[in-house]
Amino acid sequence: MNGLENELESLQNEGLERTIRTCSNVPGKPGYTLRKDRLLLNLSSNDYLGLAQHPKIIESMRDVLLLEGAGAGASRLITGNRGPYDRLEESLAAWQNCEAALVFANGYMANSGVIRALAGRGDVVFSDRLNHASIVDGIVMSRAEHARYRHNDMEHLRHLLNKYRDRPRKLIVTDAVFSMDGDQAHLREIAALKREYGAMLMVDEAHSGGVYGVHGEGLCHELGLHDEVDVHMGTFSKSFGVYGAYVTGSRTLIRWLVNKARPLIYSTALPPAIVAGIGIALELVQAGHERRQYLLSASKLFRSSLGNAGFQVAEGNSPIVPVIVGDNHTALRFSEMLETDGIAASAIRPPTVPDGTARIRFSLTEAHTEQELIDAIAKICRVGHQLGVLET
Ligand code: PMP
Repeated sequence: MNGLENELESLQNEGLERTIRTCSNVPGKPGYTLRKDRLLLNLSSNDYLGLAQHPKIIESMRDVLLLEGAGAGASRLITGNRGPYDRLEESLAAWQNCEAALVFANGYMANSGVIRALAGRGDVVFSDRLNHASIVDGIVMSRAEHARYRHNDMEHLRHLLNKYRDRPRKLIVTDAVFSMDGDQAHLREIAALKREYGAMLMVDEAHSGGVYGVHGEGLCHELGLHDEVDVHMGTFSKSFGVYGAYVTGSRTLIRWLVNKARPLIYSTALPPAIVAGIGIALELVQAGHERRQYLLSASKLFRSSLGNAGFQVAEGNSPIVPVIVGDNHTALRFSEMLETDGIAASAIRPPTVPDGTARIRFSLTEAHTEQELIDAIAKICRVGHQLGVLET
């Protein structure tokens, strides 16, 4: 088909072909997954607070499913905006201590839709090189100038802000926690630059919502910076254990998005049962301080143990712990050998990460016990030695 087979073959030869494999839920064991009937410790899930199986969430979804039916039947602007939506958005605005909130079908649609709504031809979007693909795609679709700054390089950001200082509308966008590296954006410096240059600031809290802040509000709240952020975005697919996404900010912002965000306008609303489940997940996230504390201390132990063993581990204070192995084939082999040893941990390769930095991206959940992690570390080290990633 027009050379696609040849291109796929070369992707495969370079160790870059992506495949979809089937995994099943293990009832009562949120830290595990089943693959080909084998029970695997799941070190590749974003269900950070272990809520995906929470009985209260499932119960509320089942109740609303019976009442409201399987699907919303239309976009939110037509007849898809069912009761649970309004309640949820009120609770989200209160949680984030801001004027208003808007729920989107998922994080990809939220990021791409919001950026496209806020920037257009002649405007500039300043974006960290390691920002999520949904941000990059939003910028490309917006037709605004894409000013990519080197990862967390504030001098480079300043240089670009200077270069484009006369543009009518400037938007700085950053992940709060970077999804493939697990490190944090330099939000204090970014907020200061935003003020200095009169730009808007959008922060993606996909991996930090639920994980930081006394009530899980995210990294911006934890750092006391939430008032500096014009557009606060996060997903319900990770710490919330469900699906969907939110944007919070001023009433004007939300009114603007209702009129301009194309994924909201032109796509069917989330099923009401999902929205109801998110509402319960929000209560659990807010009350989940102990879960957060355990998750972060377990992640610290996991990260430092792998680092001390000699692995090249990216620095950070998050449940995302990448072990960089460099070569694509080695990363794939590493992942396969871990699976044989009872661990699900994905190999992440270019173009998701820069060339030569293929890695195993471990992500932890609150559901993992310390003993499970200690056993996993021993297995990871054994495979590291066998593959020559660790020196013997
Ligand atoms: N932003 C970031 C930083 C992400 O990691 C992801 C998901 N991988 C998204 C946005 C997209 O969120 P969703 O999965 O809800 O589409």
